[in-house]
Amino acid sequence: MDATEFRKRGKEMIDYVADYLENLRERKPFPDVVPGYLRQMMPDEAPENPEKWEELFSDIERVIMPGVTHWQSPHFHAYYPAANSYPAIIADILSDAIGAMGFTWASNPACTELEVVILDWLGKMLDLPPNFLFSSGGTGGGVIQSTASEATVVAMLSARTMFIRKMKEDNPEQEDTAILSKLVAYCSDQAHSSVERAGQISMVKMQKLETDEKSALRGSTLSEAIERDQANGLLPFFVCATLGTTPSCAFDNIRELGPLCEKNGIWMHVDAAYAGSAFICPEFRPLLNGVEYAVSFNFNPHKWMNVNFDCSAMWVKDSHLISDAFDVDPLYLRHENQGKMPDYRHWHIPLGRRFRSLKLWFVLRLFGQKGLQDYIRKDVQLAHEFESLVRADDRFEIVAEVIMGLVCFRLKGSNKANENLLKAINDDGRLHMVPSKIKEVYFIRFAICAARTSARDIHFAWKVIKELTELNFGTKIN
Ligand code: PLP
Repeated sequence: MDATEFRKRGKEMIDYVADYLENLRERKPFPDVVPGYLRQMMPDEAPENPEKWEELFSDIERVIMPGVTHWQSPHFHAYYPAANSYPAIIADILSDAIGAMGFTWASNPACTELEVVILDWLGKMLDLPPNFLFSSGGTGGGVIQSTASEATVVAMLSARTMFIRKMKEDNPEQEDTAILSKLVAYCSDQAHSSVERAGQISMVKMQKLETDEKSALRGSTLSEAIERDQANGLLPFFVCATLGTTPSCAFDNIRELGPLCEKNGIWMHVDAAYAGSAFICPEFRPLLNGVEYAVSFNFNPHKWMNVNFDCSAMWVKDSHLISDAFDVDPLYLRHENQGKMPDYRHWHIPLGRRFRSLKLWFVLRLFGQKGLQDYIRKDVQLAHEFESLVRADDRFEIVAEVIMGLVCFRLKGSNKANENLLKAINDDGRLHMVPSKIKEVYFIRFAICAARTSARDIHFAWKVIKELTELNFGTKIN
C-alpha cells in the first residue's frame, strides 16, 4: 500500500467506522457464534501473494463482525464502559503514524513532555492534592499505565520492594525471602479480581476483608486485621482500597483507611478504575476525600472519560518509590538529559510505550472539562432514570444505592429466578448484561456503557426486560 492508496483506503475506513458507530443500534450487542466459528471461515495458511484491499475489506463484515461483541452499542449494558470517541480514535491514528517508543525522554521527548503536562491537567481536574502533581515541584507525578490491573501490580511490587529494603536497613542479616514470606496485603471482599492477581504475582499473602452493609471496607475492619496479623508475626505492607467497586460501585472509606495506613507504614493504593472519571464533577469529588493519605491513585480514562483503550492514569506522591524499585540502567537506554524529566521506563513494567497522552490531549481539548462533566452527568441521570423504572415495578428491587452509571437490580425472588431472567435477556440478544453476587444475593448489573446511549435506549431496555419477565414468569416469580 503506497501513500496514494493509503489516503483512499484510510478514508474508506473512516467512513466505515463512522457508519459502524452511528448505526450500532441495528446490530445485536452480543454475537451469535460458537467457539471456533472463525477458523472455519479462514484459509489454513497466510496468503502467499498480496491480496486485494477489496477482498480484505469485505471480510470485515463476513468474518469479523459476526463474532464481535459490540461494546459501543447503546444496548450493551455489561461490565463497565469501554470509552470510545472520535477525537481519541483520530489521536490514535497519529500515534500509530509517529510510531515512536517513549520509554525515555530521549526516545521521544514529545511523548514524555505531553504526558507530564496532561497528567497534571487531569490531576487538577480531579482536584488531586498538589503533591501528586509534577507542577508542585516535588517528587510527585503521573504516568499512563496500560490498565488498572497493571497500576495495582506496579504499586504492589514497588511497595513490596521498598518495604523489604526498609526492613533490611534495620536488620541487614534478614533474607529477602524470609521477609517476603511474612508480607500481607489487604483489599475488600469486593475488590476487582486484578487485585488478588497482583497478590499472586507479587507472591504475598492477600487478605480479603469483609465489607459493611454498603459493601464498603471500613477502618475498624482493617484495624482488627492489622492487629491480628501483627500479633501473628506477619508484616502488613499494602492496602488496595476501591472507589467504585466492580460488583456494585461501592466506595471503600478511605478517610478511615488512610490514617491507619499512614500510622502503620502501609502503602495505600486507591483503585478508582471506573468511578475516577466522575471526580471531575464537583458533586462527586467528596467521594475522593481521603486520597491525601494514598501513596498511589489510579483511574481509567479508558472506561468513562471518552479516551479509547488503553489509558489508565496513575499518580504517586513520591515517584522514587516506583522508579527506584525497578531501576535497571543499561548503557543503550541512557541519555545525557537523564534526571531532568521522567524516564517513564522506570515507572511501569514494559519498556516500549505508545504515545497515549495524545488521545488524552485530543479528548481534553475537544470536549473541554465542561463537555466531559456533561457526559458523566448524562450517564448518571440515565442510570437514575432506569432506577425509577425498576422501582416503579413491585416485582423488582434495587440492591445497591445508585451513585454513578450502574444500576444493580433483581426480581424479588430466588437467585435461580434471577439467573433465569438474565439468561433469557442474553439469549434474546437485544440487550447484553452480566450478573454479580454479594453476600450470596445474585443480581443483574445494568451499566450505562456506550457514548450514544440515550433515554430512548433506557426505556427500550426496560421494555425488553419486562417483556421477557412476563414471557418467562407470567405473574409467578419464585
Ligand atoms: N478495578 C476495578 C474497580 C474495575 O472495575 C476494573 C474493571 O472493570 C479493573 C480494576 C480492571 O481494569 P483494567 O481492565 O484497566 O485492568
